[in-house]
Amino acid sequence: MAEDPRDWDVETRLVRGGMARSPYGEISEALFLTQSFAYDSAAAANARFAGDEPGFIYQRFGNPTTQMFEDRLALLEGAEVCRATASGMSAVHVALTGLLKAGDHLVAGRALFGSCRWIISEWLPRFGVETTYVDATDLEAWKNAVRPNTRAFLVESPANPLLEVTAIGAVAEIAHAAGARLVVDNVFATPIFQKPLALGADIVVYSATKHIDGQGRVLGGAILGAEALMTEAYKDILRHTGPALSPFNSWVLLKGLETLDLRVRRQTDNAAKVADVIAAHAKSRQTIYCGRPDHPQAAIIANQMTGGGNVVAFDLGSREAAWKFLDALQIVDISNNLGDAKSMATHPCTTTHRSMPEAERLEIGLTEGWVRMSVGLEGAGDLSRDVSRALDAA
Ligand SMILES: *Cc1c(COP(=O)(O)O)cnc(C)c1O
Repeated sequence: MAEDPRDWDVETRLVRGGMARSPYGEISEALFLTQSFAYDSAAAANARFAGDEPGFIYQRFGNPTTQMFEDRLALLEGAEVCRATASGMSAVHVALTGLLKAGDHLVAGRALFGSCRWIISEWLPRFGVETTYVDATDLEAWKNAVRPNTRAFLVESPANPLLEVTAIGAVAEIAHAAGARLVVDNVFATPIFQKPLALGADIVVYSATKHIDGQGRVLGGAILGAEALMTEAYKDILRHTGPALSPFNSWVLLKGLETLDLRVRRQTDNAAKVADVIAAHAKSRQTIYCGRPDHPQAAIIANQMTGGGNVVAFDLGSREAAWKFLDALQIVDISNNLGDAKSMATHPCTTTHRSMPEAERLEIGLTEGWVRMSVGLEGAGDLSRDVSRALDAA
């Protein structure tokens, strides 16, 4: 019997899933830098445009390299369909606008990536979509926010930058009881450690820029879900508004997936060690890491995540101390990406979250002393030494 890739181990899916060889029999996936495709006859062109025959038409609709990336990520996620987009933000934008129309209402966890908040607070209202922000850890708040016209829920879990965790299954039940779809931004957990669809979510989005590339090269994004919903909500908007992922970036991300499991697990081992060093240091007032038993939502994490991930957040008490910490680092970079092979740390209040009004920052507990660190693949001993020294200087 032929092997069904859906029965493969995660590692095998990541290396071989979605592989579609050309007649040359290449071992490394081919990069198809082609916008268009030729048809054998006018009738064949007609059949392909009519959707009666499979095959590619135009890069904005699909491309063989991009499809290999989509199929591999879908196989990893356990989703029927994946559609790649040019960035994580195009994935979030399409994921929301494909589900919503004028007069609809959205409920969103209030701790969100800055650009996601801009889409919700500034952009969607122009098209008549209103949003209620909630404390994503409070199930009653999700329930109370529902209105008769609520059509979608959005949550990031763990959330940026303080790693707040939401009970995805419970929120999915509330969404479904209200006739709404739950969209989960799963960037921080990665598809290695959390499967929102299996927990009850309808749609998962990724910034593939983060761990899936993981080597700081390209932007990319993805939307995943069941075939019927993906077709109904997203097929046309993806074709006609043009957020297609370039085949070159698809190829980079496809190769990134091959090592995703290895990288994320090693980063997580390093992050656990670094988090312990930070938590034990007198300068840190609070350390938040999803792999530590003192995480505020540790019980939920135990139910829905299989690893702590590579991001650690810690409070040094003041902006001055946080900046001294960053300036004293010798190996770790001061930078705002995450999931990269190289460790990096950032001061959210003055970088990623600077456009968030102070009152809203305080609502999510983000004061001036917090530092967010994305732990990479360097030696754990070197990272621990660099972080300890910088904490001494803070
Ligand atoms: C980075 C990020 C995004 C946006 O992704 P881009 O690829 O930068 O457009 C969205 N959500 C989360 C949680 C992110 O970390």
